[in-house]
Amino acid sequence: MERIKLGNTGLKASKLGFGAMHLPKVSVEESDRLLNRALDMGINYIDTARAYQDSEEKVGRVVSKRRDECIITTRSHTWKMGIESYKKDFETSLKTLKVDRIDFYGLHSVNKKEELDMVMGKHLEFLKKAKEKGDIGHLLISGHNHITMTEAVKTGEFEMAFFPFNVIEKEPLDMLIEEANRRNVITVVMKPLGGGVIPHIPLALSFFLSYNVDLIVPGVASLKELEENFRVIEENKKLTKSELEKLEKSVEVLGKDFCRRCSYCQPCQSNIMIPFIHGIHQRCYGKPMDENIEYMLNTMGKRLLPSLKTCTECGQCEEQCPYNLPTRQRIKDIISMVTA
Ligand code: SF4
Ligand code: SF4
Repeated sequence: MERIKLGNTGLKASKLGFGAMHLPKVSVEESDRLLNRALDMGINYIDTARAYQDSEEKVGRVVSKRRDECIITTRSHTWKMGIESYKKDFETSLKTLKVDRIDFYGLHSVNKKEELDMVMGKHLEFLKKAKEKGDIGHLLISGHNHITMTEAVKTGEFEMAFFPFNVIEKEPLDMLIEEANRRNVITVVMKPLGGGVIPHIPLALSFFLSYNVDLIVPGVASLKELEENFRVIEENKKLTKSELEKLEKSVEVLGKDFCRRCSYCQPCQSNIMIPFIHGIHQRCYGKPMDENIEYMLNTMGKRLLPSLKTCTECGQCEEQCPYNLPTRQRIKDIISMVTA
C-alpha cells in the first residue's frame, strides 16, 4: 500500500490505518492474526487507546515483535481525572504496548472548549516533557466536536488531530480540515463508518478519497473487514455523483442524533447496555420504521423491560456522551412502546 507523508514529522504511513478499538471483541489469537495480516499488507499505522479495554495489550503482543514496521498511536481520556491519573496511564501504555517510545501520544476525547482550556495547562506541559525525553514522538489530540478541534489545531501544539468525519458528519468540512491542512497538522478520520451504522462500506470509504484528509482509520474485527477496507483504499476510486447519492440516501434514516456505539457513556450504574438501547430506539423511531419492530418489541423489548426500569435517571450517561444523546428519554420511549 502506498505511503503518504505525515505532516512535518518525517514519517510515512499507509492511508488506511488499523483501528484497534474493536480488538476487545476478538480472541487473542484472532487479534494476532489480524494485526500481523495488516502489517503484511503494508498497513503500518495502528491506532489504539487506553479506553479500548484490552486493545493495547493485544496490539502490544504483535507490535513489540515488529516495532520497526509500524507507527503506533495511543491516547488517554484520564486527563479528565487530573494530571496524576493521566501520567500513570501513560506509563501503563508504555508497558502494555511493550515499547519504549510511542510515536503519537496525546489527549483522547477533548470535546468542549472548557476541556480544551483545561488540557492546555499541566497536561500539555507533561506531554511536551515526555516528547523532549523521547518517550513520545509527536503530540496528538482527538475530539468529537469540530469547533473545539478547530481551536485545538489553531493552538499549534498538536501535530495530529483525530475527529469523526463521514457522509453523515460533514461538519469538519466547514473549517477544521482546511485549518489543519493550512498548518500541516495530520488529519485522522475517526468513525469513517459512523461507528458501524453506515451500511455501504466500500462507498463509505471511497467517500474520503474526494477530500484532503490524511489517514482513514476504521475499526477492524475480522479479516473480511480488513481485506475489504484494503481493497477499497488500494483501488483509490472516487465516488461518482450517483454513488454519492446512493450513499447519502442510505443514511437518511439515521438523522444526526444517532448512537455511534463508542461506549463513552458506559458503564451504567444499572448495567443498562446503552448503545444497544439506542439501536432499538433507532429501529422504533427511525423513518421508515423497521418492519420487524412489533415482533422485536414483543420479544427482546419485553425481556429488556426489567433492566430498563432500573434506570435511576442519574444522567451520567448523557454527561459522558459527546453527542448529547437523550438516553433517559429514549429509555422512557422504549418502555412506553413495550407496555402500550
Ligand atoms: S441515566 Fe439511566 S441509563 Fe443513564 S447512566 Fe444513569 S441509570 Fe444508566
Ligand atoms: S450514547 Fe453516546 S456515548 Fe453512548 S455509545 Fe452512543 S454515542 Fe457513544
